[in-house]
Amino acid sequence: MKIVVTVKQVPDTNAEKTFDPVTKRLNRSSIENVLNPFDEYAIEEALRIKEAQGADTTVTILTMAPASATDVVRKALGMGADNAVLLSDDAIPGSDTMATAYALAQALKHVGFDLILSGTQSTDAICSVVPAAIAEHLNIPCVTYVKKLTVENNAIDAQRETESGFVRVRAPLPALVSVTKAINEPRYPTLKGIMGAKKKEIQTPSIADIGADPARLGEAGSKTVVESFAPVGARQKGQVVSVSDAKEGAKQILDFLIAKKVV
Ligand SMILES: Cc1cc2nc3c(=O)[nH]c(=O)nc-3n(C[C@H](O)[C@H](O)[C@H](O)COP(=O)(O)OP(=O)(O)OC[C@H]3O[C@@H](n4cnc5c(N)ncnc54)[C@H](O)[C@@H]3O)c2cc1C
Repeated sequence: MKIVVTVKQVPDTNAEKTFDPVTKRLNRSSIENVLNPFDEYAIEEALRIKEAQGADTTVTILTMAPASATDVVRKALGMGADNAVLLSDDAIPGSDTMATAYALAQALKHVGFDLILSGTQSTDAICSVVPAAIAEHLNIPCVTYVKKLTVENNAIDAQRETESGFVRVRAPLPALVSVTKAINEPRYPTLKGIMGAKKKEIQTPSIADIGADPARLGEAGSKTVVESFAPVGARQKGQVVSVSDAKEGAKQILDFLIAKKVV
């Protein structure tokens, strides 16, 4: 079985982020980038399936990112993935969510897959849209927000998280599954894994290699446009309730919450 895990390089959550006023894009080159934490759960799940299924199963990492994303890819390989595909091309910068999903779907057709695993969201753009859009391009079942996954008899059996519990969903392979943080506890790359990752293959196909139409990528191929951006306003000082009578204090807090439509 061939498992492909989509992973995204994201700015470190603690890094101070700025936008380029001309391109209206995030300044990605000046900040430290890391592997999207949600994708670590997808990698871990892929490795557990591989361990259960045996040597015929392979785990490939797929990312669309600048060429400098090899560090992030190596971390995924260090966890135990077999090889990786880094899609990086001058036609890509400026791609919105749908253009990104189109490129990733083309890359997936190029590398082949039985099961695609994704995180539920990235920690930077947080659209939670890319996995479903990839599945739509590939015309395969898409099961999102999965907290438990079993692969058996060429099919998946999954528990999808809901607000009140979970629903159980089955689908035939090939399929795409996006996983939540509840599914497992990702392993740390071992020293042996980190050393071994240096020798693992990272393919770098071009847009032409994967048969993608450049007109559907980058700014030209994106139907959404960033019109403007603004910093979050400074946090206002909170309202302090200061009364000697506890009942009166409770009433004022309740009135405040009612006015804010919290209760
Ligand atoms: C007009 C516009 C221009 C943009 N220009 C750029 C740009 O120049 N450079 C840039 O980096 N971003 C750019 N973006 C943002 C980019 O489109 C999104 O980051 C991207 O579509 C992924 O969306 P998301 O981060 O919300 O992913 P989500 O849908 O929240 O991610 C869910 C999962 O999908 C997978 N995934 C998402 N993105 C990737 C990826 N790139 N590779 C592999 N797997 C992935 C991961 O498994 C992830 O956990 C632009 C967005 C807009 C609207």
